[in-house]
Amino acid sequence: MLLRRVAAALVFVFALGWATPANAAVRVLYYDASQAQEFVAVVNQGAQIWNAKVTNVRLEPVPSGRTPNIRVYADNGWPRTYTSSLGNGYWYMGREAVNQGYYKPRIAAHEFGHILGLPDRRTGLCADLMSGSSAPVSCTNANPNATEAATVNRSFGTSVTVAPATYVWAG
Ligand SMILES: [Zn+2]
Repeated sequence: MLLRRVAAALVFVFALGWATPANAAVRVLYYDASQAQEFVAVVNQGAQIWNAKVTNVRLEPVPSGRTPNIRVYADNGWPRTYTSSLGNGYWYMGREAVNQGYYKPRIAAHEFGHILGLPDRRTGLCADLMSGSSAPVSCTNANPNATEAATVNRSFGTSVTVAPATYVWAG
């Protein structure tokens, strides 16, 4: 009987040992797209793009009654993001860029990228998500490149401190 209990306890400890590292690494960020007007679907798409590329953080729609980490709005200005810390802030899906023809999923993933700790890097390259408006309007790449995804994983893996900042698509 005692042996059986000890064995059960050992199994429990081993199970915890397996479960803890993987679970502890993932940070869930809740976003509220309810005020994103006609862009709700593309906001969800932007979140899913990141979820497919990174492992240390997940973007999920905020459950009712819970305070979101991220709020998303829409207006006629440029797309822009206001961060308060790593994983927290709000951003606008701005029609100024949408009307110029910039690819909406790329805008959404880019602005989420700022919330995830990435600054603008205006390289002009379509392969870079954080090149934003410096890439041609015709650019339809909405995925972070390997370096951008790795940077986000590292930031959330080590919980780096990110200073508050404002990022504007263009203008
Ligand atoms: Zn930007």
